[in-house]
Amino acid sequence: MVKNVRKASLPVVGRLHHFTENEVKVIREKLLCWYDAHHRVLPWRSIAATEPDRNKRAYAVWVSEIMLQQTQVSTVIDYFKKWMTKWPTVGDLASSTLEEVNQVWAGLGYYSRARRLHEGALKVVKELNGEFPNDRDSLIHHLPGVGRYSGSAVSSIALGCAVGVVDGNVSRVLARVRGIGANIAAQSTVEHMWSLADQIVDPERPGDFNQAMMELGATVCTPKMASCSACPLRLQCVAYHKSVDEKEKASITNHFKNPEKKKQSLEPSGLPDIECLTDCDLCLRKEDWDNSLGVQNYPRKAQKTQSRQEQSAVVILEHTNGKVLLVQRPKTGLLANLWEFPSIPLTEEMDHWNEVVTECLVKEFGVPSSFASSRTFVADVIHIFSHIRQTYKVYKILVDGQEKLTWPTRYQGGQWLTREEFFTSATSTAMKKVFRAADTCGQKSKNKKNRMDLEGKSSEKKKQKTISHFFKAVQRK
Ligand code: SF4
Ligand SMILES: [Zn+2]
Repeated sequence: MVKNVRKASLPVVGRLHHFTENEVKVIREKLLCWYDAHHRVLPWRSIAATEPDRNKRAYAVWVSEIMLQQTQVSTVIDYFKKWMTKWPTVGDLASSTLEEVNQVWAGLGYYSRARRLHEGALKVVKELNGEFPNDRDSLIHHLPGVGRYSGSAVSSIALGCAVGVVDGNVSRVLARVRGIGANIAAQSTVEHMWSLADQIVDPERPGDFNQAMMELGATVCTPKMASCSACPLRLQCVAYHKSVDEKEKASITNHFKNPEKKKQSLEPSGLPDIECLTDCDLCLRKEDWDNSLGVQNYPRKAQKTQSRQEQSAVVILEHTNGKVLLVQRPKTGLLANLWEFPSIPLTEEMDHWNEVVTECLVKEFGVPSSFASSRTFVADVIHIFSHIRQTYKVYKILVDGQEKLTWPTRYQGGQWLTREEFFTSATSTAMKKVFRAADTCGQKSKNKKNRMDLEGKSSEKKKQKTISHFFKAVQRK
């Protein structure tokens, strides 16, 4: 049986991509009610909700927002707790060194964020008398690394400013609720999202409202598995109505194979198309709708930019006393100030990069040429940075106390570290991967050697047994 054809309650043509005053009121009520009942308890949220000192609130929310950029909530929780235990106030952070900050940050990735937090803390203490700025614009103006999103998040959550936020989660929710099928990354679409976010934010509870929008996107209106049946905004959602109606249309089409009957069924009470009548840059194009995707037709995917492929040789120089040589990266650029194993960038133009590596080890790091050329290949380790697919060709060289090692000027310095020191130092996840690969490889060759030794012994035993057996056999004769 085909269900009764009904008119969708949404939307009235002409206001599809905007909110009416009544919708704003309803959305605020429903979303905050849902948030109160369902939100995840997170350490920075508890501070924002209970800490009476605005400066401490702003500091905690600022740290959490910077950590959450590009990193999942589950990963951030432990880092945040460790950070707040070590530096509970902006003054504590300002009195630390960048080296200490990098150590605590190690493993979280995108290291420039740690540097900016440290710089920001110094600025608040030295230039702003220890007081955080009061609103979104001043936060953006004064704090390095704080843009429109972080400024809005910190000012609404910690300081109660009535400004909306737009991040990936909010953008997806808004695209679905308002049926926005334009390229999500286009500047005009981005601006539209911001104006919607500023319009619907609740002036009484802006921080909770913004967190509710983000929470809904993270837990209910997810990229691949929207749970519309559990969503408080279902009745206001264009994507939901459109997907239901498109399914009904398809079901009518399938039911009435006779084209005449099909026409009759669609025409008298026909389902409205949920889209603008006139040319609209924000609507999803009819030909782009895919019934199997339902609400997930929104938002339209932005074209992915291809990541860059890069290669470098990484050499683990291990002293006979077990220590390894680490060198410190430059003050700016990717992984600034972090410690790494001596690395040599390899380019496609290098025909004989094996020789280039040997030459660099000798000339730049002072490794004797016999050691440099007889280095052991460990493995290829691949690490994906945001826009770079980096392949590390990992080598190992065992050196003794006589070697006088140095490093090229592109590095800030060098030091020998024990294995334990290495894992607690300010090194990137990629370098930890490299070290583990060397460990695994070393373990494998040890096992292989042991196996070979054992096999050797057992075959010898076998042989001996055979000989003695033969001997006994001879004796018996
Ligand atoms: S109804 Fe579905 S698509 Fe619409 S906001 Fe809720 S979860 Fe997202
Ligand atoms: Zn439109």
